[in-house]
Amino acid sequence: MSERVERTAVYPGSFDPIHNGHLDLIERCRPMYDRLVIAVLHNEAKRALFSVDERLEIIRELVGERAGCEVLSFSGLLVHFMDQVGARIVVRGLRAVTDFEYEFQMAMMNRRLNPRVETVFMAPKEEYNYLSSSLVKEVFFLGGDLSGLVPEPVLARMRRRLDPRAGQAGGPGRAGRPGGAAVAGKAGRRSAG
Ligand code: ADP
Repeated sequence: MSERVERTAVYPGSFDPIHNGHLDLIERCRPMYDRLVIAVLHNEAKRALFSVDERLEIIRELVGERAGCEVLSFSGLLVHFMDQVGARIVVRGLRAVTDFEYEFQMAMMNRRLNPRVETVFMAPKEEYNYLSSSLVKEVFFLGGDLSGLVPEPVLARMRRRLDPRAGQAGGPGRAGRPGGAAVAGKAGRRSAG
């Protein structure tokens, strides 16, 4: 009888910041694999709210205790990282039809680069369908209420980032707010996963 091979999946992304849509996906796919590697992309081209180390710390705080989850960072090609961690499955979220074209391109390119790599698409709970990290930042900087969409420890860090004197409580305030587009503006293109 053949030996059972450990199924490792990688869930890559910027996670800047992680929100409930990401966490919902993690919860959904965790039971499907023996090991789930949440992989934070180093992307020099994107101006980030949190450094990669901060993002690793935040995600570890939120999912660290869950069995079978690992939180790592990577740069360069995803398929190379997957070889390093011994994974063949990429998990990606599909929120709306608009995500499809880009995700399809990435899946095909990754398969071309390594034919053993398979991409699995998952849909989040309906209430997170419109949620993206870019929109979270935009709403936050404009003073909107993100409770129920972003975990409280992440919101607390965002408040401190905006105004280091701000405590755990209270709204985001205005200090340090970058010139942001209106909430109605299109959320930024997602990073190459
Ligand atoms: P974003 O597109 O939010 O800036 P990331 O690059 O961090 O995010 O996305 C990482 C992965 O998480 C991608 O596969 C993306 O499809 C998925 N994802 C992002 N937002 C959601 C959401 N609201 N629900 C489900 N999956 C999501």
